[in-house]
Amino acid sequence: MDTHAILSAVLIVCIIGLICGVVLVVASTFMAVPKDQKEEDIRALLPGANCGACGFSGCDGYAAAMAKGEAQPGLCAPGGAAVAKAISDYLGVGGGNIEEKVACVQCFGNNDNTVNKVNYEGIDRCSAANLVAGGSASCSYGCLGVGDCVRACQYGAISVCNGAAVVDTTRCVGCTMCSKVCPRHLITMVPKKRQAVNHCMNCDKGADTNKVCKVGCIGCGKCVKVCPKEAITIENFRAKVDPEKCVGCGLCTKECPRHCLTLMLVPKKAAPVAKS
Ligand code: SF4
Ligand code: SF4
Repeated sequence: MDTHAILSAVLIVCIIGLICGVVLVVASTFMAVPKDQKEEDIRALLPGANCGACGFSGCDGYAAAMAKGEAQPGLCAPGGAAVAKAISDYLGVGGGNIEEKVACVQCFGNNDNTVNKVNYEGIDRCSAANLVAGGSASCSYGCLGVGDCVRACQYGAISVCNGAAVVDTTRCVGCTMCSKVCPRHLITMVPKKRQAVNHCMNCDKGADTNKVCKVGCIGCGKCVKVCPKEAITIENFRAKVDPEKCVGCGLCTKECPRHCLTLMLVPKKAAPVAKS
Protein backbone atom coordinates (compact mmCIF):
# COMPACT_ATOMS: atom_id res chain seq x y z
CA MET A 1 0.00 0.00 0.00
CA ASP A 2 1.48 3.36 -0.98
CA THR A 3 1.81 6.41 1.30
CA HIS A 4 -0.87 8.32 -0.59
CA ALA A 5 -3.50 5.66 0.07
CA ILE A 6 -2.65 5.57 3.82
CA LEU A 7 -2.90 9.36 4.16
CA SER A 8 -6.23 9.36 2.29
CA ALA A 9 -7.66 6.74 4.67
CA VAL A 10 -6.51 8.71 7.74
CA LEU A 11 -8.00 11.90 6.31
CA ILE A 12 -11.34 10.23 5.62
CA VAL A 13 -11.51 8.84 9.19
CA CYS A 14 -10.69 12.31 10.60
CA ILE A 15 -13.39 13.96 8.51
CA ILE A 16 -15.99 11.37 9.60
CA GLY A 17 -14.97 11.89 13.24
CA LEU A 18 -15.28 15.65 12.85
CA ILE A 19 -18.74 15.38 11.30
CA CYS A 20 -19.91 13.03 14.08
CA GLY A 21 -18.56 15.41 16.73
CA VAL A 22 -20.41 18.37 15.23
CA VAL A 23 -23.65 16.33 15.00
CA LEU A 24 -23.34 15.30 18.68
CA VAL A 25 -22.71 18.87 19.84
CA VAL A 26 -25.72 20.16 17.87
CA ALA A 27 -27.91 17.30 19.13
CA SER A 28 -26.88 17.82 22.77
CA THR A 29 -27.64 21.54 22.44
CA PHE A 30 -31.06 21.27 20.83
CA MET A 31 -32.26 17.97 22.32
CA ALA A 32 -31.00 18.41 25.90
CA VAL A 33 -33.58 17.65 28.60
CA PRO A 34 -33.85 20.77 30.75
CA LYS A 35 -32.60 20.25 34.32
CA ASP A 36 -35.21 20.44 37.05
CA GLN A 37 -33.69 22.83 39.58
CA LYS A 38 -36.01 21.64 42.34
CA GLU A 39 -34.90 18.05 41.77
CA GLU A 40 -31.24 19.12 41.76
CA ASP A 41 -31.67 21.04 45.02
CA ILE A 42 -33.35 18.09 46.74
CA ARG A 43 -30.71 15.70 45.40
CA ALA A 44 -28.03 17.90 46.96
CA LEU A 45 -29.69 17.52 50.36
CA LEU A 46 -29.66 13.70 50.21
CA PRO A 47 -26.57 11.89 51.55
CA GLY A 48 -25.82 10.00 48.32
CA ALA A 49 -25.67 6.52 49.81
CA ASN A 50 -27.79 5.13 46.93
CA CYS A 51 -28.89 2.32 49.24
CA GLY A 52 -32.50 2.08 48.04
CA ALA A 53 -33.88 2.04 51.60
CA CYS A 54 -36.35 4.75 50.48
CA GLY A 55 -37.90 2.28 48.01
CA PHE A 56 -36.60 4.10 44.93
CA SER A 57 -33.76 3.10 42.61
CA GLY A 58 -31.36 5.44 44.43
CA CYS A 59 -30.97 9.06 45.57
CA ASP A 60 -31.67 10.40 42.04
CA GLY A 61 -34.95 8.50 41.78
CA TYR A 62 -36.07 9.57 45.25
CA ALA A 63 -35.19 13.21 44.58
CA ALA A 64 -37.13 13.14 41.30
CA ALA A 65 -40.18 11.65 43.03
CA MET A 66 -40.11 14.28 45.78
CA ALA A 67 -39.73 17.09 43.25
CA LYS A 68 -42.88 15.83 41.51
CA GLY A 69 -44.73 15.56 44.81
CA GLU A 70 -44.91 11.77 44.52
CA ALA A 71 -42.93 10.94 47.68
CA GLN A 72 -42.66 12.21 51.23
CA PRO A 73 -39.37 13.55 52.67
CA GLY A 74 -39.06 11.09 55.57
CA LEU A 75 -37.95 7.95 53.69
CA CYS A 76 -34.16 8.36 53.73
CA ALA A 77 -32.81 6.18 56.54
CA PRO A 78 -29.12 7.18 56.23
CA GLY A 79 -30.09 10.86 56.22
CA GLY A 80 -32.27 10.46 59.27
CA ALA A 81 -34.27 13.22 60.90
CA ALA A 82 -31.87 16.00 59.89
CA VAL A 83 -32.18 15.33 56.15
CA ALA A 84 -35.93 14.78 56.42
CA LYS A 85 -36.31 18.17 58.12
CA ALA A 86 -34.05 19.94 55.61
CA ILE A 87 -36.07 18.60 52.67
CA SER A 88 -39.40 19.32 54.40
CA ASP A 89 -38.28 22.89 55.01
CA TYR A 90 -37.14 23.25 51.40
CA LEU A 91 -40.44 21.91 50.05
CA GLY A 92 -42.51 23.68 52.68
CA VAL A 93 -44.39 20.47 53.49
CA GLY A 94 -44.86 18.20 56.49
CA GLY A 95 -43.89 14.53 56.56
CA GLY A 96 -40.33 15.23 57.60
CA ASN A 97 -40.55 13.11 60.72
CA ILE A 98 -38.63 9.88 60.55
CA GLU A 99 -38.31 7.15 63.08
CA GLU A 100 -34.61 6.37 63.14
CA LYS A 101 -33.75 2.68 63.19
CA VAL A 102 -30.64 0.59 63.54
CA ALA A 103 -29.85 -2.92 62.43
CA CYS A 104 -30.00 -5.68 65.02
CA VAL A 105 -28.58 -9.17 64.42
CA GLN A 106 -31.01 -11.49 66.15
CA CYS A 107 -28.49 -14.19 66.92
CA PHE A 108 -25.89 -14.60 69.67
CA GLY A 109 -24.75 -17.93 68.22
CA ASN A 110 -21.02 -17.28 68.15
CA ASN A 111 -18.36 -19.96 68.48
CA ASP A 112 -18.64 -19.95 72.28
CA ASN A 113 -22.36 -20.58 72.26
CA THR A 114 -22.79 -23.00 69.36
CA VAL A 115 -20.77 -25.74 67.70
CA ASN A 116 -20.54 -26.01 63.92
CA LYS A 117 -21.94 -29.28 62.61
CA VAL A 118 -19.51 -29.20 59.65
CA ASN A 119 -16.64 -27.04 58.46
CA TYR A 120 -17.76 -25.10 55.39
CA GLU A 121 -14.92 -24.48 52.92
CA GLY A 122 -16.85 -23.42 49.82
CA ILE A 123 -17.57 -20.05 48.18
CA ASP A 124 -16.96 -17.20 50.61
CA ARG A 125 -20.61 -16.10 50.79
CA CYS A 126 -23.36 -16.73 53.35
CA SER A 127 -25.80 -17.22 50.48
CA ALA A 128 -23.66 -20.07 49.15
CA ALA A 129 -22.99 -21.59 52.59
CA ASN A 130 -26.71 -21.57 53.28
CA LEU A 131 -27.32 -23.74 50.21
CA VAL A 132 -24.87 -26.43 51.32
CA ALA A 133 -26.78 -28.56 53.83
CA GLY A 134 -28.19 -25.39 55.42
CA GLY A 135 -24.75 -24.03 56.29
CA SER A 136 -22.21 -25.10 58.85
CA ALA A 137 -23.99 -23.76 61.94
CA SER A 138 -25.61 -26.37 64.18
CA CYS A 139 -28.64 -24.09 64.56
CA SER A 140 -30.56 -23.97 61.30
CA TYR A 141 -31.76 -20.42 62.12
CA GLY A 142 -28.41 -19.02 63.27
CA CYS A 143 -25.76 -16.76 61.82
CA LEU A 144 -23.53 -18.39 59.20
CA GLY A 145 -20.71 -15.96 59.95
CA VAL A 146 -19.41 -15.64 56.39
CA GLY A 147 -20.12 -11.92 56.31
CA ASP A 148 -22.47 -11.10 53.41
CA CYS A 149 -23.84 -8.34 55.68
CA VAL A 150 -20.33 -7.01 56.34
CA ARG A 151 -19.69 -6.68 52.61
CA ALA A 152 -23.08 -5.02 52.04
CA CYS A 153 -22.64 -2.32 54.68
CA GLN A 154 -21.23 0.92 53.26
CA TYR A 155 -20.63 2.34 56.73
CA GLY A 156 -18.40 -0.32 58.30
CA ALA A 157 -21.09 -0.90 60.91
CA ILE A 158 -21.07 -4.72 60.92
CA SER A 159 -18.31 -7.17 61.64
CA VAL A 160 -18.19 -10.90 62.22
CA CYS A 161 -16.81 -11.49 65.71
CA ASN A 162 -16.03 -15.01 66.89
CA GLY A 163 -18.25 -16.51 64.20
CA ALA A 164 -21.35 -14.29 64.41
CA ALA A 165 -22.26 -10.89 63.00
CA VAL A 166 -22.35 -7.91 65.38
CA VAL A 167 -23.64 -4.39 64.67
CA ASP A 168 -21.87 -1.24 65.83
CA THR A 169 -24.94 0.90 66.55
CA THR A 170 -22.89 4.09 66.67
CA ARG A 171 -22.05 3.64 62.99
CA CYS A 172 -25.28 2.07 61.69
CA VAL A 173 -27.45 4.54 59.74
CA GLY A 174 -30.36 2.15 59.25
CA CYS A 175 -30.03 1.84 55.46
CA THR A 176 -31.24 -1.84 55.55
CA MET A 177 -28.61 -3.08 53.08
CA CYS A 178 -27.41 -5.76 55.51
CA SER A 179 -30.87 -7.06 56.24
CA LYS A 180 -31.60 -7.41 52.53
CA VAL A 181 -28.65 -9.74 51.90
CA CYS A 182 -28.80 -12.00 54.97
CA PRO A 183 -29.98 -15.40 53.73
CA ARG A 184 -31.13 -16.29 57.26
CA HIS A 185 -33.23 -13.10 57.63
CA LEU A 186 -31.53 -12.49 60.97
CA ILE A 187 -31.06 -8.76 60.70
CA THR A 188 -34.07 -6.65 61.62
CA MET A 189 -34.35 -2.89 61.84
CA VAL A 190 -35.38 -1.76 65.30
CA PRO A 191 -36.26 1.75 66.50
CA LYS A 192 -33.29 3.70 67.84
CA LYS A 193 -34.45 3.71 71.45
CA ARG A 194 -33.89 1.89 74.71
CA GLN A 195 -35.80 -1.37 74.33
CA ALA A 196 -35.61 -5.11 74.85
CA VAL A 197 -34.51 -7.26 71.90
CA ASN A 198 -34.53 -11.03 71.55
CA HIS A 199 -31.27 -12.11 69.91
CA CYS A 200 -32.61 -15.47 68.81
CA MET A 201 -34.73 -16.44 65.81
CA ASN A 202 -34.88 -20.16 66.53
CA CYS A 203 -38.47 -21.36 66.18
CA ASP A 204 -37.92 -24.97 67.29
CA LYS A 205 -39.19 -26.38 70.55
CA GLY A 206 -37.11 -25.37 73.59
CA ALA A 207 -35.57 -28.82 74.03
CA ASP A 208 -34.34 -28.84 70.44
CA THR A 209 -33.01 -25.27 70.66
CA ASN A 210 -31.19 -26.19 73.84
CA LYS A 211 -29.30 -28.95 72.00
CA VAL A 212 -27.77 -26.57 69.44
CA CYS A 213 -27.17 -23.30 71.31
CA LYS A 214 -26.38 -22.23 74.86
CA VAL A 215 -28.17 -18.90 74.45
CA GLY A 216 -31.12 -19.80 72.23
CA CYS A 217 -34.62 -18.71 73.28
CA ILE A 218 -36.53 -21.71 74.63
CA GLY A 219 -39.86 -19.91 74.91
CA CYS A 220 -40.10 -20.45 78.67
CA GLY A 221 -42.30 -17.35 79.04
CA LYS A 222 -40.55 -15.92 82.14
CA CYS A 223 -40.14 -12.61 80.30
CA VAL A 224 -43.84 -12.55 79.42
CA LYS A 225 -44.82 -12.91 83.08
CA VAL A 226 -42.53 -10.16 84.36
CA CYS A 227 -43.22 -7.51 81.70
CA PRO A 228 -45.47 -4.77 83.14
CA LYS A 229 -46.44 -3.53 79.67
CA GLU A 230 -47.49 -6.83 78.09
CA ALA A 231 -44.89 -6.14 75.43
CA ILE A 232 -43.79 -9.75 75.01
CA THR A 233 -45.59 -12.73 73.51
CA ILE A 234 -44.38 -16.25 72.77
CA GLU A 235 -44.74 -17.10 69.10
CA ASN A 236 -43.31 -20.26 67.53
CA PHE A 237 -41.50 -21.15 70.75
CA ARG A 238 -39.64 -17.83 70.98
CA ALA A 239 -40.23 -14.51 72.72
CA LYS A 240 -41.30 -11.63 70.50
CA VAL A 241 -41.00 -8.06 71.81
CA ASP A 242 -43.36 -5.35 70.57
CA PRO A 243 -41.16 -2.21 70.36
CA GLU A 244 -44.26 -0.01 70.44
CA LYS A 245 -45.17 -1.29 73.91
CA CYS A 246 -41.68 -1.82 75.37
CA VAL A 247 -40.56 1.00 77.67
CA GLY A 248 -37.04 -0.34 78.16
CA CYS A 249 -37.34 -1.07 81.89
CA GLY A 250 -35.15 -4.18 81.45
CA LEU A 251 -37.09 -6.46 83.84
CA CYS A 252 -37.36 -9.17 81.18
CA THR A 253 -33.64 -9.19 80.48
CA LYS A 254 -32.90 -9.87 84.15
CA GLU A 255 -35.38 -12.75 84.19
CA CYS A 256 -34.28 -14.47 80.97
CA PRO A 257 -32.40 -17.69 81.88
CA ARG A 258 -30.82 -17.87 78.42
CA HIS A 259 -29.52 -14.28 78.28
CA CYS A 260 -30.85 -13.90 74.74
CA LEU A 261 -33.01 -10.92 75.73
CA THR A 262 -30.90 -7.82 76.09
CA LEU A 263 -31.56 -4.12 76.35
CA MET A 264 -30.74 -2.20 73.23
CA LEU A 265 -29.38 1.16 74.29
CA VAL A 266 -29.59 4.38 72.33
CA PRO A 267 -26.31 4.94 70.46
CA LYS A 268 -24.43 7.89 71.96
CA LYS A 269 -23.14 9.24 68.68
CA ALA A 270 -23.67 8.42 65.05
CA ALA A 271 -20.89 8.38 62.49
CA PRO A 272 -22.67 8.11 59.14
CA VAL A 273 -19.54 8.08 57.01
CA ALA A 274 -19.73 5.85 53.95
CA LYS A 275 -16.72 3.70 53.08
CA SER A 276 -14.83 5.16 50.13
S1 SF4 B 1 -26.02 -12.05 59.79
FE1 SF4 B 1 -26.64 -13.11 57.90
S2 SF4 B 1 -25.38 -12.18 56.25
FE2 SF4 B 1 -24.40 -11.60 58.22
S3 SF4 B 1 -22.81 -13.18 58.54
FE3 SF4 B 1 -24.71 -13.87 59.60
S4 SF4 B 1 -25.79 -15.18 58.09
FE4 SF4 B 1 -24.24 -13.97 56.96
S1 SF4 C 1 -37.82 -4.00 78.86
FE1 SF4 C 1 -39.55 -3.84 80.29
S2 SF4 C 1 -41.28 -3.08 79.04
FE2 SF4 C 1 -39.70 -3.80 77.62
S3 SF4 C 1 -40.31 -5.91 77.17
FE3 SF4 C 1 -38.83 -6.01 78.88
S4 SF4 C 1 -40.08 -5.98 80.72
FE4 SF4 C 1 -41.41 -5.31 79.05
